[in-house]
Amino acid sequence: MKKIESANEFLKKNMNLFECPVCHCEFRKIEKNSLQCTNDHSFDLSKKGTIYFLLKGSKNEYNREMLEARYNIAQAGLFNPLLEAVYSHIEHKTGGSLLDVGCGEGSQLDYLTQLGLSGNNIGFDISKDAIQLAAGNFTSAFFCVADLAQSPFATRKYDTILNIFSPSNYEEFERLLKKDGLIIKVVPENDYLIELRKLFYHDQKEKQTYSNQLVIEKFKEHFLEIETRRISYSFSLTKENFLDLMMMTPLSWGASEEAKQYATDHPLAKITVDVRLLIGKNKS
Ligand SMILES: [Zn+2]
Repeated sequence: MKKIESANEFLKKNMNLFECPVCHCEFRKIEKNSLQCTNDHSFDLSKKGTIYFLLKGSKNEYNREMLEARYNIAQAGLFNPLLEAVYSHIEHKTGGSLLDVGCGEGSQLDYLTQLGLSGNNIGFDISKDAIQLAAGNFTSAFFCVADLAQSPFATRKYDTILNIFSPSNYEEFERLLKKDGLIIKVVPENDYLIELRKLFYHDQKEKQTYSNQLVIEKFKEHFLEIETRRISYSFSLTKENFLDLMMMTPLSWGASEEAKQYATDHPLAKITVDVRLLIGKNKS
């Protein structure tokens, strides 16, 4: 089946997971591959089966090169152990509705489906490039371009929200989650990519560390905390992997050209992935 056709079927079955980002009414039908709300606002499916829900253009700092590098390193398995941990905490592994917030180029959601996640999975990102890559590479979920600030997702319809290395809007997550819905947030821990930090910022000690204390406190204010869990492991890198890692991470934005050149000439053979999983339930 063509991508646009399977996306059309997905939307017909799951129209109730969405709402119009303009007027917040329900979508009532999909006609000629166009999703239409009760006030006749419409959003067209692209050939790849994605929908662009943004009401105005967005700026984001991830260019296509970074996204492709992230795809490569994700396919090499950098995030697999952390995603296996995420998977183990998802309560509705089959038949549930799941929203991957800031899904990027789609690798993480695809890997979760390889692990066994099935159901109504939606990945969205504010980056159009990211969603094009995701829909081009994967058929495991419905992908769309959307903004949490003008959300096209319906109230209280989601069993699971994933918020992996992506920005949060907790009020919005509370609205979207079912009464008993689960949020899994992943944030970097102190030693996340520590070897790369040291390479890039060897003379700037303050940039070598990272604290997520405020993030954790804010999470606890909004959700009934079930568990926080630290996942830490070392990942072996080929030269190719290392160059992709350098390319994909925002850490490189703050690094000097000299530091990046030095790193390119002295590739790391191993990198530490150190993250914290925050797993919470909706309070209300
Ligand atoms: Zn509308």
